[in-house]
Amino acid sequence: MGHHHHHEHSGTSLISAARTALVAADERWTEMRADVFAVLVARERPASAYDIAEGVSARRGKRVAANSVYRILDLFVRTNLARRVESANAYIANTHPGCRHDCIFLICDICGQVTHLDDDRLTGALIDAARAARFADVRPLVEIRGRCATCASAATSDIAVQQ
Ligand SMILES: [Zn+2]
Ligand SMILES: [Zn+2]
Repeated sequence: MGHHHHHEHSGTSLISAARTALVAADERWTEMRADVFAVLVARERPASAYDIAEGVSARRGKRVAANSVYRILDLFVRTNLARRVESANAYIANTHPGCRHDCIFLICDICGQVTHLDDDRLTGALIDAARAARFADVRPLVEIRGRCATCASAATSDIAVQQ
């Protein structure tokens, strides 16, 4: 698997790509699953299972148990529709559900915004290193903390104002 540029989806195009990927994985795109995914996509930041359950409850106009949402999120992670951001204990929609990558997440310390990049050479090197250490079934989870471009430039202009 080399380094390639795939199409990243958003909005309705992401929802239809997710539906296609889920059906291809022999799972049904139920109304409840569609609602959970829609709530996930609408979030700009990673959301906890609890926050997503709140959003789904509001959308459906009735209380939805966090447990059932949790099970759906688990299914989404297994089928590549969503990713778990471990250090934020939260979920985010996968913008390329039809394409498997070990995404590298960039998490802003200030605003919590998560972006990601795909570099299969980098994650491939981690997989090789773990296998060389006789580790099996390797899944690299790479999360980088820092400040996003917006927050970094806001901080710079704050300093300029102070001077
Ligand atoms: Zn990715
Ligand atoms: Zn930020």
